[in-house]
Amino acid sequence: MNAEIISIGDELTSGQRLDTNSQIISRRLGDLGIQVRFHTTIGDELPDNISAFKIAAGRSDVVIISGGLGPTADDLTREALAEAFDRPLEFRPEAMEHIENLFKSRKREMPERNRVQALFPETSTIIPNPHGTAPGIDLQVEFPDPVRSVHRCRLFALPGVPAEMLQMLEQTVEPRLISDLGLGSQRWYYHCVKLFGLGESDVEKVIPDLIARDRIPRVGITVSKATITLRIAALAANEEEFTRLIQDTLEQIRNEFKDVIFGEGETELNDVVQDILAQKQRTLSIVEVGAGCWIGQMLSDGFSPSSSSGLKHLAWLPTLLADSDPKQLVELAQKYHRDSSSDYVMAVGFYPPADSLINEKSLPTTDLQVCIIGPAGRIVTKSQRVSGHPELFYQRLAKTALDMLRRELLSDQ
Ligand code: ATP
Ligand code: MG
Repeated sequence: MNAEIISIGDELTSGQRLDTNSQIISRRLGDLGIQVRFHTTIGDELPDNISAFKIAAGRSDVVIISGGLGPTADDLTREALAEAFDRPLEFRPEAMEHIENLFKSRKREMPERNRVQALFPETSTIIPNPHGTAPGIDLQVEFPDPVRSVHRCRLFALPGVPAEMLQMLEQTVEPRLISDLGLGSQRWYYHCVKLFGLGESDVEKVIPDLIARDRIPRVGITVSKATITLRIAALAANEEEFTRLIQDTLEQIRNEFKDVIFGEGETELNDVVQDILAQKQRTLSIVEVGAGCWIGQMLSDGFSPSSSSGLKHLAWLPTLLADSDPKQLVELAQKYHRDSSSDYVMAVGFYPPADSLINEKSLPTTDLQVCIIGPAGRIVTKSQRVSGHPELFYQRLAKTALDMLRRELLSDQ
């Protein structure tokens, strides 16, 4: 079963407002086991609405439309549905009564133009809107189909107002999808595996067969801020069935990428470092040298430095490393290790200073340097060349340092 979501409004196509309805509807349809294959956004133009509705109904089993059900001249969904599927509009007294009652309860006179909201394409049914004047439209259409002899499409038109849309989706659309189309016995489940230290195409090279689109379970690659996520997705009746379905795939991924996997689920490198520290019952402080304070920024995103997590950003020294000799960092780490009560101290810096390298002509490149001092005073220094797109460069530096730290903590008994 596949679906298309259509969002309507000039405010969406002009970029003045973000289409959040499609995201919410997609997620909820996924929970019912429906695969959303298209998101379409159109402005308030009648011909565009008509053609978009026809295309969607021709290629999808379910179409959910939001917007354009208001009473004003730019609200065209009713009319477009009527024209697209040749179902003239007819007056529904029960819808009129609801709209009139709503105005009465608000002690307001009903403007004459609200009467259009009681017009429905022939054969359609009403989707009640308890808190708004615009009832939704539920319409089934059929076309001859060379393969299946007939292609049926169920269209649901809902108001654009996000709260009304959601309430109607939950209360009426989803129950109808479940009962009329026999859905809901399965849903989409996802499991993420997080990788750091490889490029997106390197990953694809290693597992081309896993990325194949027709594979079950599906595996998708996404990259965000230098972290690669492999998302395993499958339709299943429950969590246990999903776990069984993805077992072989997950094992293959774990084997192929064991050196670069840092975690599974919704986790980031800093979360993993915190977990390792918590397991070891150790504390760690970070001292950053150079432009930015990027690790500090990463840690403060959704993380309170004063929490008892064991991971603390101790200091940021905006001075730059004087040369490529690790001596300066070792001395710093030793000083903070003496002065702080942390079990571990990590000092991080880079040379040459990347700031001067960030320009439009070249890819910034620098040698990241790290010195980690452990509980017994053991000193480890590491260095790695890092380069990347200017916008992601410092994040890559921060994550490279955290990944070095993660590996060192894991190997340190
Ligand atoms: P009504 O006129 O009865 O309120 P409507 O169906 O005509 O409903 P619109 O006028 O198109 O809805 O939109 C109402 C509000 O909802 C506007 O503020 C609009 O920006 C917002 N909205 C519409 N579509 C979306 C969407 N896809 N995502 C987020 N907000 C939306
Ligand atoms: Mg609108």
